[in-house]
Amino acid sequence: MIIVLLGPPGSGKGTQAELISKEFNFFHFSTGNILRNEVKNETKIGKEIKSIINAGKLISDEIIIKIVDMQITEQLKNYKGFLFDGFPRNLDQAKGLDELLNTRNQKLTSVIELCVDQDEVIKRIQKRKLEENREDDTEDILKSRLNVYLNETKPLLDFYRERRKLNKINGIKSIDNVNNKIKDVILTLKST
Ligand code: AMP
Repeated sequence: MIIVLLGPPGSGKGTQAELISKEFNFFHFSTGNILRNEVKNETKIGKEIKSIINAGKLISDEIIIKIVDMQITEQLKNYKGFLFDGFPRNLDQAKGLDELLNTRNQKLTSVIELCVDQDEVIKRIQKRKLEENREDDTEDILKSRLNVYLNETKPLLDFYRERRKLNKINGIKSIDNVNNKIKDVILTLKST
């Protein structure tokens, strides 16, 4: 089973992806976490991308697709399912994902959108900044990340809606409530 979680920064994708991956033994496929590790370990890629992450912009599709390609190969050996969190971020990446899956005789099962309005997202990121101290959680960088979401990632909703892959969930409720709704969607998908 291959699921994509979509939603703006601060919509709870990371929190929910972690919970759901544990519950269903999926690989939590967070491109953001992979990239932050590259930066932390000061790898060649890490040095190239640090300033882009800290400007709230997207890393090039070429780098992202290469990372996803490598990880899919590695993790298909270990997991029956993938939960993508933060990928794809634009139409080219969505098409890239389809190709990567096709070449392995796999296909995307479903996309789950966490719907959270902008005011709530801003409140949550301000709180996360205090808790996790993520460098890209400042007010200015968040503005840029929200713009990137609106201009580049949001069009994916239509792309997946047209392909009948999209499930929407109200992301404003409690972590448990949202978690249960995602579980319901996945259990329904499993039974069909
Ligand atoms: P996230 O943890 O998903 O919010 O990602 C943090 C940052 O990593 C983003 O603001 C981007 O700079 C970068 N990033 C994560 N995933 C992608 C992706 N799929 N494509 C391009 N950049 C990404």
